[in-house]
Amino acid sequence: MSPSKVKVTSSLDPASVESKIREELDLSTGVTTIRRNAPPAILHEDALNESKTAISSTGALIAYSGEKTGRSPRDKRIVEESTSKDNIWWGPVNKPCSEKTWAINRERAADYLRTRDHLYIVDAFAGWDPKYRIKVRVVCARAYHALFMTNMLIRPTKEELENFGEPDFTVWNAGQFPANKNTEDMTSKTTVEINFKAMEMIILGTEYAGEMKKGIFTVMFYLMPVHHNILTLHSSANQGIRDGDVTLFFGLSGTGKTTLSADPHRLLIGDDEHCWSDNGVFNIEGGCYAKCIDLSAEKEPEIFNAIKFGSVLENIVYDPISRVVDYEDKSITENTRCAYPIEYIPSAKIPCFADAHPKNIILLTCDASGVLPPISKLTPEQVMYHFISGYTSKMAGTEQGVTEPEPTFSSCFGQPFLALHPIKYATMLAQKMSQHNADAWLINTGWTGASYVSGGKRCPLKYTRAILDSIHDGTLAQEQYETLPVFNLQVPTHVCDVPSELLNPMKNWSQGEAKYNSAVSNLASLFVENFHTYEDKATPEVLSAGPQI
Ligand code: ATP
Ligand code: MN
Repeated sequence: MSPSKVKVTSSLDPASVESKIREELDLSTGVTTIRRNAPPAILHEDALNESKTAISSTGALIAYSGEKTGRSPRDKRIVEESTSKDNIWWGPVNKPCSEKTWAINRERAADYLRTRDHLYIVDAFAGWDPKYRIKVRVVCARAYHALFMTNMLIRPTKEELENFGEPDFTVWNAGQFPANKNTEDMTSKTTVEINFKAMEMIILGTEYAGEMKKGIFTVMFYLMPVHHNILTLHSSANQGIRDGDVTLFFGLSGTGKTTLSADPHRLLIGDDEHCWSDNGVFNIEGGCYAKCIDLSAEKEPEIFNAIKFGSVLENIVYDPISRVVDYEDKSITENTRCAYPIEYIPSAKIPCFADAHPKNIILLTCDASGVLPPISKLTPEQVMYHFISGYTSKMAGTEQGVTEPEPTFSSCFGQPFLALHPIKYATMLAQKMSQHNADAWLINTGWTGASYVSGGKRCPLKYTRAILDSIHDGTLAQEQYETLPVFNLQVPTHVCDVPSELLNPMKNWSQGEAKYNSAVSNLASLFVENFHTYEDKATPEVLSAGPQI
């Protein structure tokens, strides 16, 4: 073998990374510059050449994702191939596509990238535990997307970048260009497609940056349990400063993971994606992705102040003269967002890893029917029941086409991201919880005592925070509890700094007890109906922990 053929994988210099990308995409013409791990300042500058981008009054990059301002779950596909096909949970979440379709779509993505003048590469990590982290490469054509992933992945040190070698997984983002919907398996011009054999993902037909982050999440939902017996979680996590106690907050979009985990009295491990290994809890990401709608410095100071130079603000409306963002403006979308490096939160714990097991497990729900209490204590069986159910009211925004709250059930509080059958994750969670003796709570951050449609108000954030404080200082566990019928939830009669009439929706239902009972029955039957799918796989104890009609 001639020396020039020897493959150097331990230390790829930027020039050879570039030539490798050129080779892989066959970039003999076109693309003039390829920037690898460009600093935020350069990405800000480059992004200003993209459509409608601007700099906010606090220095953040303002960018627009075009037609798609939320994820497109119906366009997510997994390639059906020999290495993974017996493990994958096939169905509406993970739709199969053939290797042939993959080849066509991948070529289409490459074709698009070939026509660009500039490409960006972001080489970074997913997973803060060095033992389990994976090396991710993102190749994209928008500086906005490159800055987004620079923020959301774990940024390598100079040395780690020099020794990066071959990535474990590559994302090819050609989202500005559509798929051909006449291609077999394709139902629209959008595809977000993962291939576990090639260890690649391609994006066509959507510029929503969250697809990249949640795509990597699905990869971790596959790799961690299958290869390392590690549980992947759609949760935020934080840790007590004094006691080192870890809390996990599970919840679907909009239920409060990001908002509630940013707590000045606790260290932030991460706001969205974690793994629970035998050593403790580690964050998958290097950044946070906060909802910005109605954001205020007064209610959420940590997040508000993280929106500065280096952060990416998406789909917001701003004052054309002052460049001050109007966080109340929903005219582009309800799902306005900001992506910032996790160290922009002052109480971030870096590295984002806790060598302790969770002491409190919190299931967040945003119930628009007003039936569930703002806080209840769960038995281990109830945790499993509610974890498998994954109830919330889907609020407008994060997904395309959702404009009013609608009750939804999403197993493991993260069905769109699961790679394996939900019972696989639920079983792992049950084992870990019994091994480590965690307390568990259900928190409704939505409506209580009156429904959204009957004009009720969402539980004020300050009361949810007070509830959390009383969980963390141990006082809540000592309170008196009463039982709510049907759901059999244990509700405290008193919580420090929370008005007592908020605690028990049955006693305080705005339209009287009869109406309350019928609202409870309605919600309970939705739970029961949803759980039919899991009946044959759940234990009798878990089954009887659900609502009893
Ligand atoms: P995603 O998975 O999409 O990132 P998330 O669970 O992180 O969603 P947040 O970004 O925390 O959700 O969104 C919660 C939203 O609800 C915020 O805009 C927050 O201001 C608002 N909110 C209103 N009342 C409450 C409450 N009582 N508790 C938590 N959040 C609340
Ligand atoms: Mn979040």
